[in-house]
Amino acid sequence: MERPGNKILQCKLVLLGDMGTGKTSVVLRFVRGQFFDNQEPTIGAAFFTQIISLPEATVKFDIWDTAGQERYHSLAPMYYRGAAAAIVVYDITSMDTFIRAKKWVEELRGKASTNMVMALVANKSDLESSREVKTGDGEQFSDENGMFFMETSAKTAQNINELFYEIAIRLAKTI
Ligand code: GDP
Ligand code: MG
Repeated sequence: MERPGNKILQCKLVLLGDMGTGKTSVVLRFVRGQFFDNQEPTIGAAFFTQIISLPEATVKFDIWDTAGQERYHSLAPMYYRGAAAAIVVYDITSMDTFIRAKKWVEELRGKASTNMVMALVANKSDLESSREVKTGDGEQFSDENGMFFMETSAKTAQNINELFYEIAIRLAKTI
C-alpha cells in the first residue's frame, strides 16, 4: 500500500517579472544558497531543479527562470503551458516593477490553468530605505487575485525557503 508520504509531485514552476527584480537571484539562493551582487542578466531561459520533502509528499520542482519576455511584454506559451505554479516578482524599490507585476498576473490569469498556485513576491526587502512599494499594496493586490504574498530578500535569504515551502505545501494540497 502506498502511503501519502511516498507521493512524488513533479511540478513546473515559472518565474515572471521585470528584468532586474531578482528572479535569478531568488532561484540561486533557493537552489544553491548563493547570492551575487553582480548577477549576470539571464539570456533566454535558465532551468533549475530542486526537491522539497514534505511529510505528505515529495515535491520536485522544475524551475523555469525566464528572461526576454520582459522586453516583449508578452508571455510565450512554452512558459506557462503545464505550469503548476508561478512566482511573479517585483522589486520593492521600484513602483514600475510592481505595475508590471500586476500586468503579468493579469496575463497569467487569462492564459494559465485556474488552479495554478500563484505567488506574488516583493523582493529586495533588505533595501528598506529605498522602498517605493508599501507592503500593504502588495498584500492587497495578491489577496484580490487569489495569490499568496511574501516579501523576500535573495541577498539576506529572508523568506526564500519559506516561499518555496509554501508553494510546495499548496501544490501538495491540490493533488
Ligand atoms: P532578474 O533579471 O530578475 O533575474 O534579476 P537578477 O537576479 O539578475 O538581479 C538583478 C540585480 O539585483 C543583481 O545585481 C542582483 O544582485 C540584485 N538583487 C537581486 N535580489 C536582490 C535582493 O534581494 N537584494 C538586493 N539588495 N539586491 C538584489
Ligand atoms: Mg534573470
